[in-house]
Amino acid sequence: MTDAVLPYGRQTIEDDDIAAVVEALRADFLTTGPRVEAFETAFAETVGAAHAVACANGTAALHLAMLALDVQPGEVCIAPAVTFLATANCARYVGAEVVFADVDPDSGLMTPDTLAQALEKVGDRRLRAVLPVHLRGDVAELPALARLAAEAGAVLVEDAPHALGSEAVFGNTRERVGDVRHSAMATFSFHPVKTIATGEGGMVTTNDHALAQRLRTLRSHGMVRPEGCEPWWYEMPEPGFNYRLPDILCALGLSQLAKLDRFAARRKALAVRYQAALAPLSPALRIAATPAWSDPVLHLMTVLVDFAGLGLTRIEVVEALRARGVGTQVHYIPVSRQPYYVARYGEQRLVGADAWYDRCLSLPLYPAMTEADVDHVAGALKDVLGV
Ligand SMILES: *Cc1c(COP(=O)(O)O)cnc(C)c1O
Repeated sequence: MTDAVLPYGRQTIEDDDIAAVVEALRADFLTTGPRVEAFETAFAETVGAAHAVACANGTAALHLAMLALDVQPGEVCIAPAVTFLATANCARYVGAEVVFADVDPDSGLMTPDTLAQALEKVGDRRLRAVLPVHLRGDVAELPALARLAAEAGAVLVEDAPHALGSEAVFGNTRERVGDVRHSAMATFSFHPVKTIATGEGGMVTTNDHALAQRLRTLRSHGMVRPEGCEPWWYEMPEPGFNYRLPDILCALGLSQLAKLDRFAARRKALAVRYQAALAPLSPALRIAATPAWSDPVLHLMTVLVDFAGLGLTRIEVVEALRARGVGTQVHYIPVSRQPYYVARYGEQRLVGADAWYDRCLSLPLYPAMTEADVDHVAGALKDVLGV
């Protein structure tokens, strides 16, 4: 091994990706041109949705979803406690309140049980949206979550940046994350650590034509051009934002999307290698649990380590791994513990989220890794944990 540290995730940019961007730079439109629609069409087809709307990043995708649903101040959205900040923040952007759902301590996912507990905390406020996250790439139990949300009068919005390419089998049906058959919308991110990268970038998929139209309007200032109007005319029925994704980045997205099958196969192969290499470290260390229905393209290789039982602290392990060339990350500090949310809602005890956070550590996983890298990570862990 070299002295370089394996990061927990990173992009794979190849010569043809660079060529696609260069070609876009030489073209007539740097933004709002033909590559936007081409990327959207290819993305919708890839995940099996009727519509895909490209936008500036995954956070903008979530904000647009809240705006398109007309979520109002004082209404409630439910987000899992274990996720990136943006899943909860999007509700606050539109003035809605967040109820944090607990998660399964072994998968980190919102479950029908934890959603049911969260529903009790909504009280007599109006619940508008439930935002399950396919944490690490494993698919949440969408049919049951959708049923509970519908009974409560709310829609499901999947926050799916971890799960591009992931599939699930519910009943006899194989489904693809993003096909939105149980939800109103699904959101994606093309941040460099995610499965495909555009630097910054996001997407919303939906099967609802009206929602797609509204997302498109809202991502470009809320401007509409009524039919038959003069060529310069536009109107703004309500203010939107500039959340567009430029053609330069859509060109990169298109090029990356064409590689999704290869990236996914590579991630799956590395996950299999990890399973074999880490099995001897059990029960001190276990890979986060994949639910029976989930067939993930893992974004994160998160392991759960019994730090207390080993007599080690997480920071000791993180630093010792780094010294052996292994970078790690923690996904995530429960969002409910953030000072902003503690100030707003008070300290919350969510036993599943706390148990997850106490043990979780994400190991390197990205397509350019080799099998030897995985073995090196496993060897370093064995060494550091002393098992
Ligand atoms: C990455 C991510 C986001 C935000 O995406 P950005 O493109 O970084 O804005 C939102 N939710 C989850 C679960 C994410 O992993």
